[in-house]
Amino acid sequence: TPDPTLRPERRPEDADRALRPQGLDEFIGQHEARANLRVFIESAKMRGEAMDHALFHGPPGLGKTTLAQIMARELGVNFKMTSGPVLAKAGDLAAILTNLEPRDVLFIDEIHRMNPVVEEVLYPAMEDFELDLVIGEGPAARTVRIELAPFTLVGATTRLGLLTTPLRDRFGIPTRLQFYTVEELHQIVTRGARLLNIPTEDAGAYEIAKRSRGTPRIAGRLLRRVVDFALVEGNGTITKAIADNALTRLGVDHLGLDGADRRYLGMIAENFGGGPVGVETCSAALSESRDAIEEVIEPFLLQQGLLQRTPRGRMLTQKSWRHMGLEPPRAPDQ
Ligand code: ADP
Repeated sequence: TPDPTLRPERRPEDADRALRPQGLDEFIGQHEARANLRVFIESAKMRGEAMDHALFHGPPGLGKTTLAQIMARELGVNFKMTSGPVLAKAGDLAAILTNLEPRDVLFIDEIHRMNPVVEEVLYPAMEDFELDLVIGEGPAARTVRIELAPFTLVGATTRLGLLTTPLRDRFGIPTRLQFYTVEELHQIVTRGARLLNIPTEDAGAYEIAKRSRGTPRIAGRLLRRVVDFALVEGNGTITKAIADNALTRLGVDHLGLDGADRRYLGMIAENFGGGPVGVETCSAALSESRDAIEEVIEPFLLQQGLLQRTPRGRMLTQKSWRHMGLEPPRAPDQ
């Protein structure tokens, strides 16, 4: 069974915190997003106004929360954090909004999972820094308008397509986060090992980077696991051999795929002749939620050219057959 701590959607916050970059300069990768944010932050500071609302989208573990925290720090304001699913009632959001100080950053994770009633409250808040609250019930009910301090909303989502258009349109700064290159992850692992005070050979750090699924959160997790092996089975130094052996034993292959990725590709190969197969069918065959497949498993496989999305469903590519060491079936018309 795959090690559940390797899945990026789990986040033991304490373990993550130590490695979180604190400023824009310390943040590795995402050059375009970072360069733009730097301009918007500087401009907001020069004008003395709240920065425009920003929306970060991309797979889990790429640094959306980290960037939002960095923004608040660079703007010199408070950082408040909540998430779409925990805001059950309009009043929950109203309580948070009325407690913001001028120019604060409010971060809403998983903003695509917000209750529509709560989302309605957000529109005038984002647009005019105003809240319309209904007080009382029935014929005695009335609406009161509350002025809010100007604030910056930073929304994060793994699924841009699930955002309603009115919500999407209210973000002045939409930003897509990309998977990291091996070189960038190499820098992230090297920095992490330095912060953890673990001697690391360059080839060892590189091996971890190569197998981190393009994702800093996974790089951090794998680094910690390799450290365990280095301490217990080696002399405390991360070498290529220690990293390779540890990652293989954790079920992470040389492309960085883990058990869940391989199970998914193997299912399409064995049950559906390589596809095309619909995502609902995949979800039933694997007993995995459709969300987990679309948000966590598929983006990296698509980016790696191991999976193709066609109008008729998901299909394996030549590269994925080769990676699994399987023969692709012959096309029926050949
Ligand atoms: P998301 O919100 O997109 O799921 P996070 O911001 O929580 O991702 O980042 C996950 C982990 O990866 C954090 O521990 C953070 O320290 C680390 N991380 C993310 N981006 C970077 C980066 N560019 N450089 C170094 N570490 C990073």
